[in-house]
Amino acid sequence: MTWTPTADDDRRFLSLAIEQARKSWDEGGVPIGAVLVHDGEVLAAGHNQRVQKDSAIFHGETDTIEKAGRLRASVYRESVLYTTLSPCIMCSGTALLYEIPRIVVGENRTFEMAESLLRERGVTVDVLDDPECIALMERMIAERPEIWSEDIGVEAAELGGQAKSQQR
Ligand SMILES: [Zn+2]
Repeated sequence: MTWTPTADDDRRFLSLAIEQARKSWDEGGVPIGAVLVHDGEVLAAGHNQRVQKDSAIFHGETDTIEKAGRLRASVYRESVLYTTLSPCIMCSGTALLYEIPRIVVGENRTFEMAESLLRERGVTVDVLDDPECIALMERMIAERPEIWSEDIGVEAAELGGQAKSQQR
């Protein structure tokens, strides 16, 4: 990779992802956002679209990768994906397909499903443990558990046990 983000860069790009997460919550949606960055430049920013677009597959990360459009393989392989929440298996699969080498995660306390898979496949996963990202998720889980359980494919009644069993 020609561009090596500094810790300040990571904070700055994560804050853009947080902006997207807040926008989604304000729209009545799931508060998870992401940005895809190549060579210090934001290629796309997106957020979860479950509520907004009735979408089963546009999570924060997949919405962002979709918005970035068609990219050359070499561009993905030099990009960094910033996301407010630890990626699910679907978003991790998308990142693995395109060989995105690094994912910066806002937090993984409220949900963690696929970090070991990503690391096994050589992806660098850096977790910033950001209090704002945690607060966004905790508010949704408290106030609108039904959109969260739907988003991760569990029934609302299963949420406690399921979400906990997915944590490390
Ligand atoms: Zn996902």
